[in-house]
Amino acid sequence: MHCPFCGAHDTKVIDSRLVAEGQQVRRRRECLACQERFTTFETAELVMPRLIKSDGVRQPFDEDKLRAGMQRALEKRPVSVERLEEAIAHIKHKLRATGEREVRSRVVGELVMDELRRLDEVAYIRFASVYRHFQDLDQFREEIERLSRDPAKG
Ligand SMILES: [Zn+2]
Repeated sequence: MHCPFCGAHDTKVIDSRLVAEGQQVRRRRECLACQERFTTFETAELVMPRLIKSDGVRQPFDEDKLRAGMQRALEKRPVSVERLEEAIAHIKHKLRATGEREVRSRVVGELVMDELRRLDEVAYIRFASVYRHFQDLDQFREEIERLSRDPAKG
């Protein structure tokens, strides 16, 4: 990278170490032209795709909003904060793993439902009933029927 002092193209790394519990690489560099030293930090870019709402509006992924929605569904249910955070981490991981820059917001809704279904059936049904209300009432009805026919597999 270019020297921030003189703009020379050649700088060399004189020290490199992991910081922030391995989340970051800190590098000391020295300019080959002016011998000034400077530090750079390198962090993996964990870009979340933007969400495309059903009306086509794009918005940034909002983890707080996701958490709030899941907490609402999990209210007074026997699910620990740790398990909720794990579920949120799964959802974020899957969204990143799509490699897409934009995904439909319904994809997030489906991921949330997958996670809630594993955590707590009541929370899952609460979330699904709100989430699917407008877009897919028939599918929701089928899901409820399936669960009531075969609750063990819920
Ligand atoms: Zn320089």
